[in-house]
Amino acid sequence: MNFELPKLPYALDALSPHIGAKTLEFHYGKHHNAYVNNLNSLVKGTSFENASLELIIKEAEGGIYNNGAQVWNHTFYFFGFSSEGRREPLGELAGAINKSFGSFNQFKEKFSNAAATLFGAGWAWLVKKDNGSLDIIQESNAGNPLRAGLKPILTCDVWEHAYYLDYQNRRPDYINAFWNIVDWDVISRRY
Ligand code: MN
Repeated sequence: MNFELPKLPYALDALSPHIGAKTLEFHYGKHHNAYVNNLNSLVKGTSFENASLELIIKEAEGGIYNNGAQVWNHTFYFFGFSSEGRREPLGELAGAINKSFGSFNQFKEKFSNAAATLFGAGWAWLVKKDNGSLDIIQESNAGNPLRAGLKPILTCDVWEHAYYLDYQNRRPDYINAFWNIVDWDVISRRY
């Protein structure tokens, strides 16, 4: 077992009602866990057997890339939440958000729109470029910005499995609720 499912830093019901315990039971306990197990099977006997997830994201193709990126993406997503925490960015990230998007509210609107309009399954990302400026991008399926040399800061999973049990087809309602659980102490340290 090269790769392991990281233990969540909160209880399964900690994000309720924004993300319910049933969703976490499946999204973390089944989906995230399956990506870890799939990856462990797929890397056996390949050059990626002892690779880091970051190397896999940058260099692997096909199933190894897809499962490796999904392991990383979900850990990054789940570890950006808390039941009680700071709900606005601070420090250098707060300044960079104002500079790149005008204000925190304008950023949230633009990020929400990217998450809502992403066609099919994928991820909306806030990323840092080499010059320190920020951008919002959409990635389909397992897509991860590290592949393009961008630094991930925040992500929202818009695969249906992320919200269907709580919101059915109402993806915008899930995105609105997402802002109530993002922990900006954690996110701000990623900048
Ligand atoms: Mn997911």
